[in-house]
Amino acid sequence: MKTLKLKPGKEKSLLRRHPWVFDGAVAKGGGDAGETVRIESHDGQFLAWAACSPTSKIRARAWSFDESQRIDKTFLTQRLRDAVALRQRLAVESDGVRLVHGESDGLPGLVVDRYGDTLVAQFTSCGVERWKNALADALLEVTGLDRLYERSDASSRTLEGLLPVTGWLRGSGPTELVLREHQWQLALDIATGHKTGFYLDQRDSRASCAAWTRKLGFQQVLNCYSYTGGFTVAALAGGAGHVTSIDSSGPAIERARHNVALNGFDTGRTTFMDADVNASLRAFLAQGRRFDAIVLDPPKLAPTVAHAERAARAYKDINRLGLQLLNPGGVLFTYSCSGGIGVELFHKIVAGAGADAGVDAAVVGRHGGAPDHPMTLAFPEGEYLKGLVLMRKL
Ligand code: SAH
Repeated sequence: MKTLKLKPGKEKSLLRRHPWVFDGAVAKGGGDAGETVRIESHDGQFLAWAACSPTSKIRARAWSFDESQRIDKTFLTQRLRDAVALRQRLAVESDGVRLVHGESDGLPGLVVDRYGDTLVAQFTSCGVERWKNALADALLEVTGLDRLYERSDASSRTLEGLLPVTGWLRGSGPTELVLREHQWQLALDIATGHKTGFYLDQRDSRASCAAWTRKLGFQQVLNCYSYTGGFTVAALAGGAGHVTSIDSSGPAIERARHNVALNGFDTGRTTFMDADVNASLRAFLAQGRRFDAIVLDPPKLAPTVAHAERAARAYKDINRLGLQLLNPGGVLFTYSCSGGIGVELFHKIVAGAGADAGVDAAVVGRHGGAPDHPMTLAFPEGEYLKGLVLMRKL
């Protein structure tokens, strides 16, 4: 068994069960890509069994903090069983569920989403890459399903020195699927869609948007960064008079249009724009347009803390425009899925946007990732998605 020895004082985070070992903490030792190594303190005390990532800044990711644990297929199968059991207890209101959420489920670098009877997995660390076949077999065993599609094309794979891989890993079948979420249906393509095909993490935010629409009777709704129209369909389900959806991806906008029809809503209640959000918001402002509700769900603008400053300016800009475009009493649903921007900083950015816009608003709700995307106590990095529901003062 190979060993990775840490510098003095660098054992603290592992003792708190944080699963990452950064390259700067390593005194000596290591292993091949994905190989299980014994992590020990400078004086030889056992800290964790971990998977080695020789070329990554995150040099190792802990599998277990128990010295007697063997890292093998039985161990991985049990982790998968625990993850799936947790989701069963959550009774998610959808047949699209995140079954495995990486570090938060003790499986660093592995994401598995279930869409009906199809599984989609993303392997983004050397550890899970090395165990891919065992994990694929175990996933079928634990879920009783027989179709598993691989979407290992996330950019984070390059940080681990891994090439992109996509395609059926087990079984085969259509990649165009229809997901049932709350009271609506959403079509997606697991082969070409973003992430594993859909943004399951915003499920509860979409339900909240539908509920607010029902309660306040929004007439004009603007869904910015709509992707395939999840919030669009939610607002229509809540009874919105008209929903305008903007996304710069042509295929996403086409699918959003399709999703409206799929749910039987009158397409006359919708406008779709294949356009840049920032430019569109400026144009609306110049035209004197106003909305009763606006959704701002931009892509990850700050993947890490290093990008936070530039991203903060971009968030502030769109939120200022969003607040200016709201009718008095209107509601802004604003999100950030940037790991590099925490809840407090996001609040501060949006507060700054309100001050610049000369708009006073009350925080009437807070949103976060749906519970099948859990965060563990030891891994605060797991909390990436945050949202504020703001009501413009009358
Ligand atoms: N709210 C969506 C998810 C949004 S993901 C849901 O519930 O499913 C972010 C989206 O922003 C992507 O679809 C991406 O195509 C789009 N996007 C990125 N940059 C953009 C820009 N400058 N203008 C418009 N859309 C953009």
